[in-house]
Amino acid sequence: MRRALKKGRAKARAFAAFLALFASLSALFGAFGCTPAPAPAKTTFAAMDTVMTLTVYGGESDALDAAKARVLDLEALLSVTDPDSDVSALNRAGTAALSPDTADLLGRALELCERTGGALDVTIYPVVRAWGFTTGDYTVPDGDTLAALLEKVDYTEVRLEGDTASLPAGAEIDLGAVAKGYAGDALAALLREKGVESALLELGGNIHTVGSKPDGSDWRVAVRDPADKEGYLGVVSVSNKAVVTSGGYERYFEQDGVRYWHIMDPRTGAPARSGLASVTVAADSGLYADALSTALFVMGREAALDYWRAHRDFEAVLVSEDGSVTVTAGLEGSFTLSGARTLSVARP
Ligand code: AMP
Ligand code: MG
Repeated sequence: MRRALKKGRAKARAFAAFLALFASLSALFGAFGCTPAPAPAKTTFAAMDTVMTLTVYGGESDALDAAKARVLDLEALLSVTDPDSDVSALNRAGTAALSPDTADLLGRALELCERTGGALDVTIYPVVRAWGFTTGDYTVPDGDTLAALLEKVDYTEVRLEGDTASLPAGAEIDLGAVAKGYAGDALAALLREKGVESALLELGGNIHTVGSKPDGSDWRVAVRDPADKEGYLGVVSVSNKAVVTSGGYERYFEQDGVRYWHIMDPRTGAPARSGLASVTVAADSGLYADALSTALFVMGREAALDYWRAHRDFEAVLVSEDGSVTVTAGLEGSFTLSGARTLSVARP
């Protein structure tokens, strides 16, 4: 215990030294830099099972702290693994009075399950857990186990009246496919209220931009190469948009040479194998972009493009397992591919 404390203090001292070095380097570059951009306020922390970095320009002095506190509050409500969360209370008891945020998100997520024809299904949790994605105890469940679990998966059975939700016996929800998107929207709204006109919110694979960069140009958001951990595939230039990626490379395990990832096909109860390696969605709403990145990954390239043609309220970059890249027409001028690959543009 004492050793852990000592180790903790040593870590804190090293971190303080790092911060001091970082501050002096920033000051140095600030002094010699030629464009006098306003200094950003920035914070990095772990939340919602990922690393988040918030970079905020201008606004009230407590804007950054308030934004971080808001994400941590949402995490405490929405986490499927925290026994004290709203989601866990509902999963345990089958019925629960939810906080306004949880009820709001659940209601909108259920609409998105409907809108995506069930490719997104928030009642997928028993299946996700059986594969070990929440415990880290990875296993490939047998067919009978999956068939039994799939009987519990059906978002149309979730009842939400006011702030009270109820589930049929054995059903459990997981808002992991939409929580970060919802958090991005909440943070952007909070920061705007606090007078922030420019911010970059990196919530793991979810990027949320507020306004444009302080110099008025678009934010340049890198899209990761699903086949290369370090590399990126291209850059999307956006202002005031959420850019959200879902990919099989984000969380997976391997058994007998086969890779199993965390995005499930609600029809089979197994990882979605649609031929896509990643889907990036750019939209005004973080929640919508997050829901769609997951749902389009499940649907596959052709159904995803049909969905886009039917709705036209988002744009997407689809990377297939063979490495080919498709962008929807609205991104034609704002997506740049980094390597020598072929890019096809989907038209309405
Ligand atoms: P994302 O990274 O946004 O694509 O979300 C993936 C997470 O959502 C997984 O870790 C699961 O917790 C959950 N999930 C997996 N498949 C689905 C699905 N088809 N519908 C809803 N949630 C899912
Ligand atoms: Mg998602």
